[in-house]
Amino acid sequence: MENLTKEKINTYQVAKSRIKRAVEQLDLPINVYERLKAPDRVIEAAIPVEMDDGKIKIFTGYRSQHNNTLGPYKGGIRFHPEVDADEVKALSIWMTFKCAVARVPFGGGKGAVACNPRQMSKKEMERLSRQYMRAMAPILGPEKDIPAPDVNTNAQVMAWMADEYSKIQQYNDFGVITGKPLDMGGCVGRETATARGVLYAVREAARVKGISLKDATFAVQGYGNVGYFAARFLAEQGGKLIAATDSSGGAYNQGGMNPELLLKHKNETGSVKNFPGSDEIDTEGLYALDCDIIVPAALENQITAKVAQKIRARIIGEGANGPTTPEADEILKEKDVLVVPDILANSGGVIVSYFEWVQNNYRYYWSEDEIERRLERKMVEAFNHIYEYKCNNCKDTVTMREAAFMYALQRLAEAMKVRGWWG
Ligand code: GLU
Repeated sequence: MENLTKEKINTYQVAKSRIKRAVEQLDLPINVYERLKAPDRVIEAAIPVEMDDGKIKIFTGYRSQHNNTLGPYKGGIRFHPEVDADEVKALSIWMTFKCAVARVPFGGGKGAVACNPRQMSKKEMERLSRQYMRAMAPILGPEKDIPAPDVNTNAQVMAWMADEYSKIQQYNDFGVITGKPLDMGGCVGRETATARGVLYAVREAARVKGISLKDATFAVQGYGNVGYFAARFLAEQGGKLIAATDSSGGAYNQGGMNPELLLKHKNETGSVKNFPGSDEIDTEGLYALDCDIIVPAALENQITAKVAQKIRARIIGEGANGPTTPEADEILKEKDVLVVPDILANSGGVIVSYFEWVQNNYRYYWSEDEIERRLERKMVEAFNHIYEYKCNNCKDTVTMREAAFMYALQRLAEAMKVRGWWG
């Protein structure tokens, strides 16, 4: 991913600062912060994988289990060359808060392997996925901790992991992981769920901002699973995709681009850049565009203070986790940009993961219509809970992100208190 952050921002410090602020805003005892600032448990494991040339390569794998007050730990596994323990800890914190906002009965967790999937064969990916599961199986389980896809992982990776876990247990235990293929207990609509959730979140934000999605212009940073489907769904509502960037470059056309054709071009050439009829644009240029909506759908810390200063869009719908730095948030607040925060905007993924887990546990499966209806209802409810919280409890003085953190923290703090975890 083209990285806008020149000096590395520590994502874990950012995540902790979000909790601290919410604790202060709610006037809760510092004990609550102490209980939540560090994950309950972080495992770092050496993952030996036989490569195609016969040599054994050792990868570093992580699983961070942040908090399970509201239910088993839950969160994806990412494969990325630059991932480290602090990033995984931060991402697990966000999952705790995301699940509390969405009111799904899960805590927060996150996993990762430092590797470059682009340089690995399918067989190497399979062996890595299975070895990761062997290393982590003792701490995972449908009632303990339930992984899912994230950056550079997909249904196939989940299938290998679920299969490996089932072999270890000696029976099919599909509820251990979500985002699986349909034939292995997956859920219809899981692949598109995060993006569909982004659509609903942006649609609600557009409603409160008095913007019609029908004539809205929008841009997307990152053209993977979330970025592509978000572009497609927004275009289906009549929105115009005027720019998209990926790790190799970008495409810009004020007249609008067809999201499907853009994906076809990316699949054929490896990037969205040089899409017929488009001009080149970089990520900084994308954020400076005069458009209504921007969907960050790449990695953390992309909207820095410098980038925020140039933003002219009126809505940011965070498809990615942690794309905006705290300094940038202040600037966007000043500029009256409505930022629908990650822990709300991208919760469609974990919401449908919850549906998948429920179906696995019941061995009873719902139709696609049913899933879509339930997802839309949950997303709209979550948006309105947070928006009302911001307007009523906070007299509209806080951002949507602060309101989301406060709302989630209130739920968590109360649940932790009755369980005797602080007080
Ligand atoms: N990786 C996704 C996220 O960051 C989905 C997590 C899940 O479904 O457990 O929200």
